[in-house]
Amino acid sequence: MSIIDEQQIDAILVTGGRADASHVREVLAKALRLKGLEMAEVAVLMSVSDPELMGELFTAARQVKENIYGRRLVLFAPLYVSNLCHNECLYCAFRARNKAVKRRALTQAEIAQEVQLLVGLGHKRVLLVAGESYPQEGFKYVLKAIETVYSVRSSQGEIRRVNANVAPLTLDEFKQLKASKIGTYQVFQETYHHATYQAVHLGGKKRDYDWRVTAPDRAMTAGIDDVGIGVLFGLCDWRFEVLALMQHIRHLEQHFGIGPHTISVPRLEPAAGSDMASHPPKPVSDVDFRKLVAILRLAVPYTGIIMSTRENPNLRRETFALGVSQISAGSRTNPGGYAEGEKEDKSQFSLGDHRPLDEVIRDVASLGYIPSFCTACYRLGRTGENFMDLAKPGEIKLFCDPNALSTFEEYLRDYASPETRQAGAKLIADTLADMPGPQRQLAEKLLTQVRAGKHDVCC
Ligand code: SAM
Ligand code: SF4
Repeated sequence: MSIIDEQQIDAILVTGGRADASHVREVLAKALRLKGLEMAEVAVLMSVSDPELMGELFTAARQVKENIYGRRLVLFAPLYVSNLCHNECLYCAFRARNKAVKRRALTQAEIAQEVQLLVGLGHKRVLLVAGESYPQEGFKYVLKAIETVYSVRSSQGEIRRVNANVAPLTLDEFKQLKASKIGTYQVFQETYHHATYQAVHLGGKKRDYDWRVTAPDRAMTAGIDDVGIGVLFGLCDWRFEVLALMQHIRHLEQHFGIGPHTISVPRLEPAAGSDMASHPPKPVSDVDFRKLVAILRLAVPYTGIIMSTRENPNLRRETFALGVSQISAGSRTNPGGYAEGEKEDKSQFSLGDHRPLDEVIRDVASLGYIPSFCTACYRLGRTGENFMDLAKPGEIKLFCDPNALSTFEEYLRDYASPETRQAGAKLIADTLADMPGPQRQLAEKLLTQVRAGKHDVCC
């Protein structure tokens, strides 16, 4: 049976649109018990438009996020290594026939240089990104790039977790990716709607819907526990996509005992040489976008939600409260972008948030969230089922907040500007004052070690 059942989705969309206030409140009450939601319940929440109920939906999402993850926001930077691509995705600047983009695959030395710059800014996690075509050595290029990222050592630090967003691989390639010590493997279906998928993917291997939708299965079969999925919002009705995401998640849970580690929610942004990117066929309004983030938080409470710099600072800020747990900052989407700056004629799409990392961190801290550079779970083996066993009962935050504080303190000492240091010191003091006893003791123990000059302190 296919992973995505469009008839079921269409049927639920028809019946779910008629929910009354008491039914919506019942669904919200269930979500607050952290058990997640069924597709029909998700459809009920998608039908909400009354401002009072919308407010209750947003409050519930915030409560679930804080219950499971605490107040931390994990930071990462994308690392675009190549914009070569054989595919013809109509929304993307890297598509093969696009003459508006100058092609470039970084050499390993250039990748190392980019990593030096990211480390120098304070980053500890990168998301390696590439188009679907590699220089002569083929897929080995990606493996070498990961090795290069981990090998860079600077007096200021190192990258401690490499995630990757690269085209679907074979089982054997996924095994090699796993052996390269990958953190999360990400692949977005873009649209789960078969007809739309065919209409926007005109050439190359990516035309094969099934090959892509089954990529998470192959990754998990190969032993990669943390897999990230996502939708490129703007291609098809967002309500359809959210229900399809639910089907995909249930499929992974049924077959592997765990769902995806993260969900990404990119919206189409303008891209050089792409008319579709500037005129999305089914644009998602800001109101609907906030709503869909909140609904996902309630529906799959234990799954991380990633917000990239495609969105502008204001919208990003609002979604932190609605359930986002990871954000990128100071990003470039052109290969070589950290050394050379943003270059439209090499970038994948335009950014909505151009602020440097230090400024984003200061902003996040002043809003009361703890910027976190934690990579503990992955390195201590808390991945896949082990992670979910802690995340599901809401126990993961016992580690998350202390680790967020210790890695944030490390950032403040090693990299931050004086203003950010000041905002950060206040946030750390306020957070400690609010923590329950045992968690505070743990956090204070870690902070003492960092303040004594120790690096990479976590529990
Ligand atoms: N090439 C690989 C693939 O397509 O799976 C991996 C990397 S691709 C560069 C990363 C993601 O960028 C895509 O999966 C798509 O969701 C997103 N993307 C492409 N064009 C975009 C645009 N114009 N605006 C926003 N996101 C876009
Ligand atoms: Fe290539 Fe990925 Fe862009 Fe499609 S989205 S054109 S596969 S880089």
